[in-house]
Amino acid sequence: MNIVILGASALATAQRLKALYPQAVIHGLRGRADGAERHYDEFGEHLRALYRADQPLVVLCAAGIVIRSLAALLAEKGAEPPVLALAEDGSAVVPLLGGLAGVNRLAREIAAHLGVTPAITTSGELRFGTCLLEPPAGYALADLQQGKRFVSDLLGGETVRIEGQAPWLEAAQLPVDNAASRIIHITPETRPAQPDELLIHPRSVAVLIDRPSADLPARLQQALSTTNLAPQALACLLAEKSWMANTELHAAAAELKLPLRFIHSTSELPPEHHAGDGLHLLLSEQPLDIERLGQRRGRLSVVGLGPGAAEHMTPAVRRALDEAEDLLGYDTYVKMAGPLRADQCLHPSDNREELQRAAHAFELAASGRRVVMISSGDPGVFAMAAAVMEALESPQSEAWQGVELEVLPGVSAALATAAKAGAPLGHDFCLISLSDNLKPWAVIEKRLEHAALADLAMAFYNPISKSRPWQLGRALDLLHQHRAPETLVVLGRDIGRPAEALRSLTLGELTPEMVDMRTLVIIGSSQTRRFPRADGGEWVYTPRWYPALTTD
Ligand code: SAH
Repeated sequence: MNIVILGASALATAQRLKALYPQAVIHGLRGRADGAERHYDEFGEHLRALYRADQPLVVLCAAGIVIRSLAALLAEKGAEPPVLALAEDGSAVVPLLGGLAGVNRLAREIAAHLGVTPAITTSGELRFGTCLLEPPAGYALADLQQGKRFVSDLLGGETVRIEGQAPWLEAAQLPVDNAASRIIHITPETRPAQPDELLIHPRSVAVLIDRPSADLPARLQQALSTTNLAPQALACLLAEKSWMANTELHAAAAELKLPLRFIHSTSELPPEHHAGDGLHLLLSEQPLDIERLGQRRGRLSVVGLGPGAAEHMTPAVRRALDEAEDLLGYDTYVKMAGPLRADQCLHPSDNREELQRAAHAFELAASGRRVVMISSGDPGVFAMAAAVMEALESPQSEAWQGVELEVLPGVSAALATAAKAGAPLGHDFCLISLSDNLKPWAVIEKRLEHAALADLAMAFYNPISKSRPWQLGRALDLLHQHRAPETLVVLGRDIGRPAEALRSLTLGELTPEMVDMRTLVIIGSSQTRRFPRADGGEWVYTPRWYPALTTD
């Protein structure tokens, strides 16, 4: 959800809303709403961009302003997310758009939280106490146009009877009459739209796939039409666990927008089924509770948070964190990954045994859970991604191969520090970890020497720590043999975090005492330069060009 405010006066209400939806993001006009998490410059443009992103949108200003800003988009086909106007002081909630995306439900939820009455204006919903066009989870409307006609007939005074099981309609105030000519039919069967009926399909059919193939959607279509079942009645695709990583299966599920569940053996399934072309259609009386059918394919996302500030985290990482059920990583990074929800399971550790942590992540993911392994910066730069790969190359269990594994990049400390300083890594550079925990010190010395001889700019990670007190000093001694004392150096400490500190100096001035384990050290090349910034301080950069090599 996105919450948009214009000025600081709306911030308190926006924050009350955020208490209800912790994942929501508060957007504020730059310079007028400092407490917002994201800032925009042009209200209308920003609102339209958020609308196109197809996420629920709550705007704390006059309804008219919202309507005028979005008007041009309404003719477009495509997204129609819920849009609500909310009075700055929280005294009124007006659902504006997204009737079929649950805007009234949201309005009720928000109104209940703020202790006010929502401004519901949908006649059918007011009269019947339910939105017939938006059946609850587990049911799907067959045809929207037919549905709209049907509801307007009922509003015009027609009575109705119900055939099939529609437990949610029992509490509604429908004009029920057992002799009525209008019928609400709850059935998995398909048939052409009739003007006198509202067809609602329970999602009560599961499809067991013996043999995935590229033409799976077409085969399924065929099986449905021979058995006379509606596509909307499909609840999920099922397959045995050995197919978990099969790409055709996942492509079909994505194309058909159906969840995919995996079972050990067919004995887990409801008994009744119709066979067809390598497919079995399993029909149940009720909508299927797919959470209780086999398990889904687990996912392990290895993510990089970036250096620290939320705005330097990629949207893909934010999404993975929001979707995670389990989060693993160093304590500090797990804390940096917020906002998190109370239902998310945290496994923070100060455990340096990365392989063990990777194994734990695979075990959780292999049981069907959504797992995120957190690194700071980029996960592939002296962090967890390589440990996860190492674990998977020699898996402790075959089930690990079924896990959906993804590595999501982040802004690494060297890049974040360089950006703060200007562009010291603007030409060829290398990244070196000065930690000799997992590689011999001799290897590090050799690399430093070669990098110095090659006149590469260098970024040092893990430059020093209590258990590695002398290594940086040795590295600097070595650099002094090949680089002039005027060589520029940038020190970035806690970049992107509240305690951020940036410093530029020369190699001649640099001593190990200036550096700690939260510092990233950039050593410039012979070409790295600096010049004063207009606002004080200085810019450091390495030019894109290089003087021709001279031979002497
Ligand atoms: N995966 C991380 C690096 C982990 S190694 C990344 O891509 O950034 C840990 C080292 O990274 C630290 O010792 C420090 O040298 C550097 N580092 C990580 N975050 C930093 C930050 N916010 N500011 C400065 N240096 C940082």
